[in-house]
Amino acid sequence: MEISEQQAAEALLRWYAEMGVDEAVGPAPADLYAWQQTSSTIEKPVPTPKGATTPITPVFQAEEAAPAADEAIAAARKMAASCKDFDGLREAVTGFDGCPLKAGAKNTVFADGIPGADLLIIGEAPGREEDRTGKPFEGHAGQLLDRMLAAIGRSRTKDTLISNVIYWRPPGNRTPTQDETAICRPFVERLIELTEPKVIVLAGGAPLQVLLGISGIMRARGVWREFELESGARYPVMPIFHPAFLLRQPTNKRLAWADLQSIEARLTKG
Ligand code: URA
Repeated sequence: MEISEQQAAEALLRWYAEMGVDEAVGPAPADLYAWQQTSSTIEKPVPTPKGATTPITPVFQAEEAAPAADEAIAAARKMAASCKDFDGLREAVTGFDGCPLKAGAKNTVFADGIPGADLLIIGEAPGREEDRTGKPFEGHAGQLLDRMLAAIGRSRTKDTLISNVIYWRPPGNRTPTQDETAICRPFVERLIELTEPKVIVLAGGAPLQVLLGISGIMRARGVWREFELESGARYPVMPIFHPAFLLRQPTNKRLAWADLQSIEARLTKG
């Protein structure tokens, strides 16, 4: 029986869905139109298995030439430095095209909460829900973060600002690369500079690594450290468990509660 191209495509999609493939992702966003034209970079087609009606198309080359990260970092630095206030910075981040993750994201996820708050929470990267709404910490982890804040009498509608070290959702929620975090970092630093928080909380291992160069949240959490900007300004920093980790390992909430109390004590002390 002859089937049309559309029927073949639909059958292939159905098959993917049955196999559990629910997102079209690779490590980097790809322009499939350009890919079709540069067939010299394409792997040899995989032969059609016996009995299959639809040829299986090879996955595109994952490691396409990375845009020059150094140039993007320099552009981010220049843009960030020119921002005079929170709204200007939001606008700059939203208009910035130097991070390759932006091409695969629906929204720029910059920050949520009160600009200039004395508590600044920095997480890792937007997930599916954040990408959909354009706000950080919107999914289950975000709901837990809100409850954690409420436990010490704080909220993002009153006295807290929440952001991430990455502003665009990495495909399939993979860990951001070093280039991606380095490109976003000037904006993160400028956000700290403009906010001048009394306390910075790093939610999880990724911001700990990016901002303090420390690996291992299990040992680092609960210990006060300092983050120093190029200007010499210093801020007290507390690494805590990421709420997504606490959802998976609720027995660690005991430790998170101790950290939250320490944070609140620091915030309320004179
Ligand atoms: N996890 C994060 O680290 N940040 C978000 O915005 C959402 C989930």
